[in-house]
Amino acid sequence: MNIFEQRESNVRSYCRSFPTVFHRAKGALVYSESGKENIDFLAGAGALNYGHNNDYIKQKVLSYLDADAMTHGLDLHTAAKEKFLATFSEQVLIPKQLDYRIQCCGPTGTNAVEAALKLARKVKNRTGIFSFMGAYHGMTQGSLSVTGNTAIRSGIESFAQVTFMPYPYRLMDGFDTIHYIESVLNDIHSGIEKPAAIIFETVQAEGGIVVAPIDWIQQLRALCDRNDILLICDDIQVGCGRTGPFFSFERANIIPDMVILSKSISGYGFPMSLLLMKQELDQWQPGEHTGTFRGYQLAFVGGTAALEYRSSTDLEKVVRLKETFLRTFLTEEIAPLHPKIEIRGLGLIWGIDLAALDDGNFAKKIATRCFEQGLIIERVGRRDTVLKLLPPLTIEMPILRRGCTILKQAIEECLA
Ligand code: PMP
Repeated sequence: MNIFEQRESNVRSYCRSFPTVFHRAKGALVYSESGKENIDFLAGAGALNYGHNNDYIKQKVLSYLDADAMTHGLDLHTAAKEKFLATFSEQVLIPKQLDYRIQCCGPTGTNAVEAALKLARKVKNRTGIFSFMGAYHGMTQGSLSVTGNTAIRSGIESFAQVTFMPYPYRLMDGFDTIHYIESVLNDIHSGIEKPAAIIFETVQAEGGIVVAPIDWIQQLRALCDRNDILLICDDIQVGCGRTGPFFSFERANIIPDMVILSKSISGYGFPMSLLLMKQELDQWQPGEHTGTFRGYQLAFVGGTAALEYRSSTDLEKVVRLKETFLRTFLTEEIAPLHPKIEIRGLGLIWGIDLAALDDGNFAKKIATRCFEQGLIIERVGRRDTVLKLLPPLTIEMPILRRGCTILKQAIEECLA
């Protein structure tokens, strides 16, 4: 019996959706052991914005290893860390006039979410956090507490007073969520105390590609200002250029009090997470928030190379061009296939929402058909009824077109 045949018994970490063994990947292509080529519209759920084994980043990582440089440094100040912090400041923060302190957190996104929540509660001396319906912030106790999905939260007691607020789109179309939050805050009979922070995603990714309107994001910022509440932007999935500019909140021209980055920040799929905080919020005592794999050296090397690659290839412009292609393709070729199909997205994160014609299996059928034809595509949203298009930002146009063609044929076949 091979490892996959055992899967329903004693093997926990296996993938039901794409039942094959992958062993090699380049750019936007991933190869199965059998040699089958697959186009990657999953891209590590946003961890591979620069593609698999990006040549520029790979060379930097290989020469670093070749020089017997530090691979683990913990609290030691290392050359790799210094270079990353300097490059991040010069290329990302300073040009955008963002005055954040940078904290390296544990290896994955959820670690930085924990740090943000902990810091907010400490600084404001309040326990409450508001988050939004459909939000996904991670799988550890704190981040799960602010994740709006009862299926994955069941049995978990919230670590703090967490209040879920409606999101301004789709389910809550036309509902003034900002007014609602403010009313709740100012009504002593609501039973809800003022929170330390509000945590949000500008595009809910796991929540089903739900794009927050610009004016709503601006109103949320103003609401936090009026009520002395910190605004935390979780840019783990849609930061690092996924929507075009480096940070996803730039389109709304606001500045969050804290920003969380992970996934593609290391450039090469290495684990890394960062918390950016306004200067005055850095109220940590030395050693108050630490961890052994905080600031992994290869992630610093990959992250520095990724920022260099980003600016030398004008990736923001490249994303705009591909965004135009995807928007046009989805609205002109996919939406007309059925009146109940809904398209949402921006930059290089798009969703095909099949909820209105899905019995819970339709999106799954399409994704399975896509995989048979060589396209890896994931499902997100309520009941997993939204097909999520998340290719590497570096995907070549012919491959992007080919992936879209496979997708269209799969939807047509499943509709027939
Ligand atoms: N926040 C968002 C918006 C995410 O998309 C994710 C991961 N999908 C997380 C937090 C959690 O990150 P990680 O899985 O690295 O802990």
